[in-house]
Amino acid sequence: MAVDSAISSPLGPPACEKDAKALQFIEEMTRNADAVQERVLADILTQNSRTEYLARFKLNAATDRQSFKSKLPVITYEDLQPEIQRIANGDRSAILSAHPISEFLTSSGTSAGERKLMPTIKEELDRRQLLYSLLMPVMNLYVPDLDKGKGLYFLFVKSETRTPGGLLARPVLTSYYKSEHFKTRPYDPYNVYTSPNEAILCPDSFQSMYTQMLCGLHDRHQVLRVGAVFASGLLRAIRFLQLNWEQLSVDIETGDLNQKITDPSLRECMAKMLKPNPELARFVRQECSKESWEGIITRIWPNTKYLDVIVTGAMAQYIPTLDYYSGGLPKACTMYASSECYFGLNLNPMCKPSEVSYTIMPNMAYFEFLPHEPNSSGFTRDSPPKLVDLVDVEVGKEYELVITTYAGLCRYRVGDILRVTGFHNSAPQFNFVRRKNVLLSIDSDKTDEAELQTAVENASQLLREFNTSVVEYTSYADTNTIPGHYVIYWELLVKDAANSPPDDVLKQCCLAMEQSLNSVYRQGRVADNSIGPLEIRVVKNGTFEELMDYAISRGASINQYKVPRCVNFTPIVELLDSRLVSAHFSPSLPHWNPERRR
Ligand code: AMP
Repeated sequence: MAVDSAISSPLGPPACEKDAKALQFIEEMTRNADAVQERVLADILTQNSRTEYLARFKLNAATDRQSFKSKLPVITYEDLQPEIQRIANGDRSAILSAHPISEFLTSSGTSAGERKLMPTIKEELDRRQLLYSLLMPVMNLYVPDLDKGKGLYFLFVKSETRTPGGLLARPVLTSYYKSEHFKTRPYDPYNVYTSPNEAILCPDSFQSMYTQMLCGLHDRHQVLRVGAVFASGLLRAIRFLQLNWEQLSVDIETGDLNQKITDPSLRECMAKMLKPNPELARFVRQECSKESWEGIITRIWPNTKYLDVIVTGAMAQYIPTLDYYSGGLPKACTMYASSECYFGLNLNPMCKPSEVSYTIMPNMAYFEFLPHEPNSSGFTRDSPPKLVDLVDVEVGKEYELVITTYAGLCRYRVGDILRVTGFHNSAPQFNFVRRKNVLLSIDSDKTDEAELQTAVENASQLLREFNTSVVEYTSYADTNTIPGHYVIYWELLVKDAANSPPDDVLKQCCLAMEQSLNSVYRQGRVADNSIGPLEIRVVKNGTFEELMDYAISRGASINQYKVPRCVNFTPIVELLDSRLVSAHFSPSLPHWNPERRR
């Protein structure tokens, strides 16, 4: 029931007192966005005034925007690499941040093939927690009675390593799930998960997924929302059910846990829950053995009101498949965040995916916006960019996000391109347009054009002894399979038809490409099972010329035509597939281990 209208919010009537406070906080922050930003910048600069980084640019303890903007350069990760490396090697002096760097968060964005290391400080956990605490109060405005059941969320931790200097390096969500903030979170009827902490925190991805699915099946009538962080993660869970429902049904029927679950704390916690339930086992078998899996989510979890998954950006490619499995349930994209900083939330989470706008919360960091000009090659020292403040962005325009964080990133280019859709009070709202320089992505992997080029070059070495070369190539993220996989189209020049490269060599070329791709890709292949084997599709000679003819017939200029290194327009993919000569898949897993190469 909604609370007293005296504490009603402009966003709508809050569901409870706690929600009222959260909504009021959003109102305050967004009404005073500019003042909050000014204060945040002053706080950050005061806190870090004695750092080596700010001293280098002679900020002289100034905390105002003008000094900051005139003295500090706009930078990328590569610019900070020396400082990051020193911190990683154990230098504990105040290089970027006055507060000690508590750990590194490993971004899915890479630099020289390895995950970027984002320094963070303890207090950032509170800031992340604060943003999380705003999500349900907003959701409760749109979906009633979420306190009457549970959320089935597939959440996972990933492997962590230590830097040479002994700091932990792990993904931001692993850091969050392992924190006391998460593990000892107070009971909140609006935020009850089917998955016990033991299952979420189990480092073995099979055991974690298996037990989370088992709990979800056990609580099937109580489940009101089903989710994962990204759409690809939820589809992986559905695929897991396809592959494991028979064993899961045995466990449900007998009340005995699969022997493959070996983690003692997980076994102990599951033993408390698992009781023989032949009726549920019969139901699961009946539904999962049907030929069609259309609507499986709502068949198994009939009270699901929405899917809680990000389907913006690269994840939009999964919308049709999610619709198929869920009978078109609403898909709520609730927040926009990164390892560097959590940015903001969607104040209208039940909107269509194409309309999702994230409101950046001005208290999270100091935000600037670099006007994005798609065809400009960047900027030089002589023509520094004019960055715009949060409240000054213009509706309809695109910008690259630049952040200054409490942990010591200063005027750091995140690489995300955002389009302004409107304002909530004085805080702008943004469509996530895309991440710069990403050609291919299946899960959290991001492969750029240069990485693909190197991979093709490395793989094509294997063709030399067959007097064969790759004359043209392009790529496609095939998400028709679960997990999805990279498809690389090759047009070959075979000089000696009698000695053309056989299937096993082309398979080795697939593997060579995978070996060349960055560590996030290889982790997805090896540890997370979130990416399927890479495929090379050899197409007939002349296919790429046809591709050019097609582009020109649609208005491309002959002089400026460049072979697209990634295709996703269906007629082009169809054209390529219609010229297929042979298809080859990577025969084994590429090399990956959690240790960084550098
Ligand atoms: P990571 O640094 O690995 O945590 O990845 C953060 C990046 O994921 C962001 O910079 C975005 O490119 C992307 N991302 C995060 N949240 C969203 C979202 N809601 N919609 C689209 N892309 C997102």
